[in-house]
Amino acid sequence: AKHSGKAQYSFFNAEMMVEHQRRIEVANAIDSAIANGELFVVYQPKHLCDGSIVGAEALLRWQSPQLGFVSPGEFIPIAEQSGKVSQLTQWIINRVCADIEDALLPLGFHHPIAINLSAADLKKYHMLGSIKGAVQKYSIDAGQLEFEVTEHSYLDDFDTTNRFLSDIADMGYSIALDDFGTGYSSLSYLNRIPIDTLKIDKQFVDHIGQSQQDDALVLTIIEMGKRLGMQLCAEGVESKAQLDFLAASGCQFIQGYYFSKPMPLNDLCERLWAAKRSA
Ligand code: C2E
Ligand code: CA
Ligand code: CA
Ligand code: CA
Repeated sequence: AKHSGKAQYSFFNAEMMVEHQRRIEVANAIDSAIANGELFVVYQPKHLCDGSIVGAEALLRWQSPQLGFVSPGEFIPIAEQSGKVSQLTQWIINRVCADIEDALLPLGFHHPIAINLSAADLKKYHMLGSIKGAVQKYSIDAGQLEFEVTEHSYLDDFDTTNRFLSDIADMGYSIALDDFGTGYSSLSYLNRIPIDTLKIDKQFVDHIGQSQQDDALVLTIIEMGKRLGMQLCAEGVESKAQLDFLAASGCQFIQGYYFSKPMPLNDLCERLWAAKRSA
């Protein structure tokens, strides 16, 4: 009735207040998360279409004593907005290098482990030094690390971002373009950036088999990537039908719950060990 507009307005405000409060709490808690050992890493394998494991992506997890489990979908954007994400990136780079040296190399696993980099990381030149430092400390070869970046990273400052990634590429690491197809960029930049692999976003994979147009889109991304000399990795593959379509279309790498969910390092090692014994 007459006052409902006003009531809705204040309700909306209260909700925004709660969200705002939560963001501040999360941002503040990130500072102690590293110092108190609240972060850990899970690894999601990357497979060939036959199921063999040829790499993995490192994904951050956070168990906070005050806030409980906080998903990266929530805390990564908050860390990005509050200028804290590069601390997290440095932490995970060191953790991953240590895990490679302690656990993966002893198993004879020399495939790359991918680390996600945020847009802000690519503007910080000292991040290159952090990467070099960790790699030297743990005696990691360049072939054992890969970096995933999104189109979004290129939006605000193409030249700085591209210089950073070109240096990474010159150092011998491979680079994957994450969430491909969900950004706002035009395609014209694809020829100018040092990308080895296009990751086909889950939203395209989800729609495989739903219409001819949906399938055509996935086929076109694969065809384009190949013509540009890139490899293709499909994200979020959950079904046999999706896998079969992607395999028939020439997509080399598969990631998703169909083959494996993100898992602790120990579980990954068990999988690799079992694969070795049955080989
Ligand atoms: P992303 O890099 O696109 O990672 C893929 C996300 O999809 C992961 O969610 C993964 O667990 C999930 N996923 C993989 N396969 C499937 C599937 O078959 N079905 C479904 N439903 N989901 C699947 P997660 O771990 O919650 O991470 C969410 C996002 O948070 C990541 O998206 C990435 O953007 C960000 N993130 C996670 N860890 C880090 C990190 O260390 N640094 C940075 N900068 N971002 C990170
Ligand atoms: Ca990723
Ligand atoms: Ca992705
Ligand atoms: Ca995604």
